[in-house]
Amino acid sequence: MTEPFPDTSYQTVAVLIVAAGRGSRAGAGLPKQYRDVAGRPVLSMTISALAQALPGARLLTVIHPDDRDLFEGCRAHLSPAESLGLLAPVAGGESRQQSVLAGLEALAASGSVPELVLIHDGARPFVGSDMIQSAVSTALEYGAAIPGTLVTDTIKEINATGRIIATPARERLRAVQTPQAFRFDLILRAHQKAAVAGIFDLTDDAAVAEWAGHDVHVFPGDPANMKITTPEDFQRAEQRLLGSLPDIRMGQGFDVHAFGPGEHVWLGGVMIPHNHGLVGHSDADVLMHAITDAIFGALADGDIGSHFPPSDPQWKGAASDIFLLYAAERVRARGGMIAHVDGTIVCERPKVGPHRDAIRARLAEILSISIDRVAVKATTSEQLGFTGRGEGIAALATATIRLP
Ligand code: MG
Repeated sequence: MTEPFPDTSYQTVAVLIVAAGRGSRAGAGLPKQYRDVAGRPVLSMTISALAQALPGARLLTVIHPDDRDLFEGCRAHLSPAESLGLLAPVAGGESRQQSVLAGLEALAASGSVPELVLIHDGARPFVGSDMIQSAVSTALEYGAAIPGTLVTDTIKEINATGRIIATPARERLRAVQTPQAFRFDLILRAHQKAAVAGIFDLTDDAAVAEWAGHDVHVFPGDPANMKITTPEDFQRAEQRLLGSLPDIRMGQGFDVHAFGPGEHVWLGGVMIPHNHGLVGHSDADVLMHAITDAIFGALADGDIGSHFPPSDPQWKGAASDIFLLYAAERVRARGGMIAHVDGTIVCERPKVGPHRDAIRARLAEILSISIDRVAVKATTSEQLGFTGRGEGIAALATATIRLP
């Protein structure tokens, strides 16, 4: 087979992620693709896997129009590199088939028409890069290619009364998965033709291509590429994800900033009115600095000063969000997750308690983890020492991360 593209990027491949379903068979109210597995929405894991395997490809997600906020929540979990090719989502239709057609037409209207399109279920986050590569190369060779796994159960065809009418030979059967990959023109025309014919209930894109008279080739699927549907699937997915991150590490951080002139302090990304400010090269967010150092500590990857030297004028007055965001990014770049952060603020004043939940929410947002993985506590030092004398604020933090 010839090299698909002149370089290692996939600029002529587009990925359509189908996530418009309302399926809540997994319980808990939210559509399943937006529910968390180990603190991350399923759809964000799916997008990450595809974006990492196909650098340079454009990714378009088809969502239900009511789910725009949920989609933005997923986007917040992606790294800048992973969101690079991610297009604004489009609204799906009533059936899966109509949703895919809406996505294909949006891609066709987006300027540069891709050579190939991979159509993937939003609820299959464990798609491996090997299978994505197989989908690309098989579709380049045959025009239409889908993954299929061997069937181990004997399959029966039954009639409306439940009587068996056929027993197909098992060795000729395949259970099919996604990504299903096609020459873009081929699948767009097939979908358009089916819509014109009033056919809207085909359950996968291969069926649309078959209906339109195209040969579709099956390449080996991966049993691990499961579609997360039931509560049991969620449990299995969580165990699998956590099992793949067995290297659990804890880091600690500590920071102090002195009071100086000012009318507010920044603590954990929240501005708290006070009769002093904190002195520092950046915004002097003592809690955020301690948590950032705790994450660097867990990674055994230097400290905030080595990554952001105070001698560098570009960090003067900087919002400390960028330090924390960077540390979280370093965890993700290692394929890991932040399991928990815990910070303690030591000062007599200002009172932190009333701001605790706002601080937790802001830190969770920056770290892209759920709020129940962020703890913030405050204490005085009983008027002892520099914090007791009101000369400054100290903060301590720990971070627990999981790495592959
Ligand atoms: Mg500091």
